Amino acid sequence: MSGINQSQALPPSRTVAVIGSGAMGAGIAQVAAAAGYSVQLFDTRAEAVVKAIADIGGMFDKLAGKGRMTAAEAGAAKARLRPASALSELAEAGLVVEAIVENLDVKRKLFADLEAVVADDCIFASNTSSISITSIGAALRLPQRLVGMHFFNPVPLMALVEIISGLASDAAVAGCVYDTALAWGKNPVHTKSTPGFIVNRVARPYYAEALRILNEQAAEPATIDAILREAGGFRMGPFELMDLIGHDVNFAVTQSVFHAYFTDPRFTPSLIQQELVNAGFLGRKSGRGFYRYG
Ligand code: NAD
Repeated sequence: MSGINQSQALPPSRTVAVIGSGAMGAGIAQVAAAAGYSVQLFDTRAEAVVKAIADIGGMFDKLAGKGRMTAAEAGAAKARLRPASALSELAEAGLVVEAIVENLDVKRKLFADLEAVVADDCIFASNTSSISITSIGAALRLPQRLVGMHFFNPVPLMALVEIISGLASDAAVAGCVYDTALAWGKNPVHTKSTPGFIVNRVARPYYAEALRILNEQAAEPATIDAILREAGGFRMGPFELMDLIGHDVNFAVTQSVFHAYFTDPRFTPSLIQQELVNAGFLGRKSGRGFYRYG
């Protein structure tokens, strides 16, 4: 693609559009704004954008209160965040980071709609946890403009970002997104579009085996979490981590990886997690998952 230099981050003069203002979109918008980029936030639920901007503002105030940024820096970072009420308002974006529902068709449609709005040199990045970047990109007029930019939850605290190239992704685009992640204070790694990429592939058995232990009634979630934290050295046990991620998101990712590997039984989704999703017990974000919150 013309105008994209492999060895340079997106210049802060180019706006970053973040689509989806849930847990991940809000975190991505926060790190981009903190790094000096103008950010537009869009969500099909307008209230999610309002909440995300208010929450991010609160985070900047908190950081200023702790002396980790000045009050002036917090004010400037807040001023760099703008809501968008329609995709048509995103025409100036130099980079779009998508963090919407984990569904191939919905993501494909969003990027196809965006392609009619933005300039040809606008880069598209998907925060998908598991879906093939090659498949998402196949719906685009310019599939080379799309890469995965997979952040981890909570985005402001987790350094790792997987930069995922699909078969059609331009190496210069992957390079630009890699350097942009560096400019946002992250620790990016390049990888290829394989189901679950690296981290979610490795993490599937962590969740799946814990859920099998629970299914066999061998131990309670709190016991399993404590063992993994204290004996295994993990920062979070599998059940508290699933509650943080959100069961709707985690279940969708497991289903996606399971089908992508031609229903390999190693990746079979858990009926326990399906029940939690059906009940609306999505974890921290809904106040109840394996544990109760608030
Ligand atoms: P979330 O449910 O908190 O937020 C998703 C947001 O997207 C919602 O506010 C929803 O209204 C909005 N949305 C849905 N469809 C939309 C559309 N067509 N256009 C615009 N907005 C739309 O979910 P999340 O946890 O932030 O996850 C978002 C993405 O990030 C998913 O692809 C997920 O797999 C990925 N991800 C999640 C985690 C995690 O730990 N939760 C970690 C890494 C990646």
